[in-house]
Amino acid sequence: AEAQAAHLLEGLNPEQLEAVTHGGAPLLIVAGAGSGKTRVLSHRIAYLIATHRAHHGEILAITFTNKAAAEMRERIEALVGERAKRMWISTFHSSCVRILRREASSVGLNSNFSIYDSADSLRLITLVHKGLELDPKKVPPKAVQHKISSLKNELIDADDFAARANLKDPFEAGVSEVYKGYTQRLRQANAMDFDDLIAETVYMFRAFPALAETYRRRFRHVLVDEYQDTNHAQYSLVREIVGEGPESSELTVVGDSDQSIYAFRGADIRNIVEFEKDYPNARTIKLEQNYRSTQTILSAANAVISRNPNRPEKRLWTAEGDGEKIIGYAAENEHEEARFIAGEIDRLTDSGEFRPGDVAVFYRTNAQSRSLEEILMRVGLPYKVVGGTRFYERKEIKDALAYLRVLVNPDDDVNLRRVLNEPKRGIGERAEGTIAALAERDRTSFMAAMRRADEAPGIATRSLNSVKGFVKLLDDLAGVAEGSGAAESLEAVLEQTGYLAGLRSSTDPQDESRVENLAELVAVVREYERENPEGTLQTFLEQVSLVADADQIPDAPEGASQAEVDAAVAEAKQQGVVTLMTLHTAKGLEFPVVFLTGMEHGVFPHRRSATDPEELAEERRLAYVGLTRARKRLYLTRSEVRSLWGQSEYYPASQFIGEVPAELIDWKREGTKRPPAVGTAGDGTNSRYDRVGSRFGGSSWGAGTSRNTSFSSISPASSAPSAAEKKGRVQPQKEVISVVVGDKVNHTAFGNGTVIGVEGAGDKTVAKVSFDIGEKRLLLRYAPLTKV
Ligand code: ATP
Ligand code: MG
Repeated sequence: AEAQAAHLLEGLNPEQLEAVTHGGAPLLIVAGAGSGKTRVLSHRIAYLIATHRAHHGEILAITFTNKAAAEMRERIEALVGERAKRMWISTFHSSCVRILRREASSVGLNSNFSIYDSADSLRLITLVHKGLELDPKKVPPKAVQHKISSLKNELIDADDFAARANLKDPFEAGVSEVYKGYTQRLRQANAMDFDDLIAETVYMFRAFPALAETYRRRFRHVLVDEYQDTNHAQYSLVREIVGEGPESSELTVVGDSDQSIYAFRGADIRNIVEFEKDYPNARTIKLEQNYRSTQTILSAANAVISRNPNRPEKRLWTAEGDGEKIIGYAAENEHEEARFIAGEIDRLTDSGEFRPGDVAVFYRTNAQSRSLEEILMRVGLPYKVVGGTRFYERKEIKDALAYLRVLVNPDDDVNLRRVLNEPKRGIGERAEGTIAALAERDRTSFMAAMRRADEAPGIATRSLNSVKGFVKLLDDLAGVAEGSGAAESLEAVLEQTGYLAGLRSSTDPQDESRVENLAELVAVVREYERENPEGTLQTFLEQVSLVADADQIPDAPEGASQAEVDAAVAEAKQQGVVTLMTLHTAKGLEFPVVFLTGMEHGVFPHRRSATDPEELAEERRLAYVGLTRARKRLYLTRSEVRSLWGQSEYYPASQFIGEVPAELIDWKREGTKRPPAVGTAGDGTNSRYDRVGSRFGGSSWGAGTSRNTSFSSISPASSAPSAAEKKGRVQPQKEVISVVVGDKVNHTAFGNGTVIGVEGAGDKTVAKVSFDIGEKRLLLRYAPLTKV
């Protein structure tokens, strides 16, 4: 054991060594990117176990993503063996779910409670909103949802808010009302939203000190990675579990205030800055040696982040040497940018120095991946898009999951009402309203009311029969779910509800891909069952629910669950394929070759940040995160014209490019040199750049709404373009091919085929093509088709 413990300390630098072996007082490790924070955390856990200072069951390790948790578990398993499998190494949300499932009765819930994701929660909020007859202009449901989320992250519950809200303000008054109703409805539905998971755990510990004490005694060591991204509720949770005074547990947190990129989710850098105040006897250790990147990459990252105000100066250094220069490229448009990237990847991999799996391509918003994908597909470079597919956000997937959720928790009104008439079964809005009223009157769930639909005043006989049929269907399916696994339940749902049959008989080409997506969902469940032999339908749904909550991360890991992201990253690495992902998703990862694309003012930094210095600082931290993912080679690319948010625009270079010392960059094509036009008072007619600038200065977006406004509500579509914009707009390049019956075509996935029919016109043209694998209906606008 002693030899093993000594082995854990090998190769650590003196500061890392101190951090790994430290005992007693709370420990804060602050350090820049790539300095070994996560590594120190893993080694510290292994060391605690190897030296018998802690039993593996006494350790609670919290990471920011499930991927990070899995990676840490792997490392610890390599160090201490099998025991690692049973340890609590997870995200805040997962830990809380685990605690709440055990102690559900303490918070007045059944342990089979549902977890509502952001979309579910918005549906419920909208229902409550409607019931209260609020004005959606003055009190937009989406903004209400955001406000409630922030309040929960601040541990302000509905009653607290009602007491402090300014009721003269229509928005605040509205939020206060909705918050109360929403809380009540969640209870009734035996459900929690994402923010509740953390907040309710904190409230529970505060209400039942003895319970908190149990967990405190159990977890003698609490370790938190990426502490800079914790919000107030998470911070409080840590305090509750650690406790105070001589009985408190040992706390270790690691973080980097320069990498805080989740302020829009309520992350509070103060949690790290004020650690020493909160824990007066704390020990702070700084790590300065970077083991990841070349000096060139570090110097670039240091130069950029040093522009942020109010940050303690820190300098990363490396023993790696300068390495290669950063390569810069200014493309004419996004297609050319993509071609350059594909060409470089080819060059790097042909030389034998790198494999495709060593390469990552980052972008600011998911929408940017499409042009990259097109080219990579065309040139035949294998790639994987991480987190951008929005798989779990697709309608058919949400419908299928809604059915499954109802089988597990019949009181789940939101999901039940989602699929009430999906596929159409003759339960219209009026019938739904009647049953809702009955449920309201008797204060029961919607399901309970459906069972007594006979009593619903004025319900039509036809509807009544449909409702009875539906109840019977659900009961039958619940029987299947009880007697068999998750995959079988899903298949039963898809078949017996007629959902799949409806899609199959449809002529809408979209429905074809819906069927494919559902097949993929079945595959996902099967894989889950293979990997988790103990897994149940409920645990599967739980995993799906624990997504990095899509709507709250604008432009970030949209849609995909963390598990999906993890699986995709692991797979990409193994298969040796290029990884495409947003900058937000890239946190904590490292790659030998990194492309930072779309380095344009208005794209990155995101245009939302133009009027708010704090937002700009956050964008800069995001740039720092991106730059520091690179180990050996770094590319900065931009496009002078880009189609994004529905229109083609000229974009000047990102200011972040200008912040990298010029001598570090080797420009392959420099592009037009023009200073960004932010702040210039041009009349908007003579310079294209002024036009971009005027959009920044304009009040048509961003104004009056919080910075967390959803993507769509700030899209130009919702704000009238100025005359100058209209005049100068560059037409998007059209690459839609036209075909006639008899044409031979090639599809990137289906191979060669013959056009056997053409329907519709313009954007909606659909071609029927006969391929070797069968006939397909393809929307020409999207299909990767070429004539041969
Ligand atoms: P980030 O801020 O990006 O999360 P980090 O501080 O958590 O970074 P790690 O991921 O722990 O950094 O480490 C970065 C890289 O450096 C990893 O590949 C890690 O294995 C390596 N590394 C860290 N410390 C050492 C060391 N003492 N000897 C060799 N390699 C090290
Ligand atoms: Mg780390």
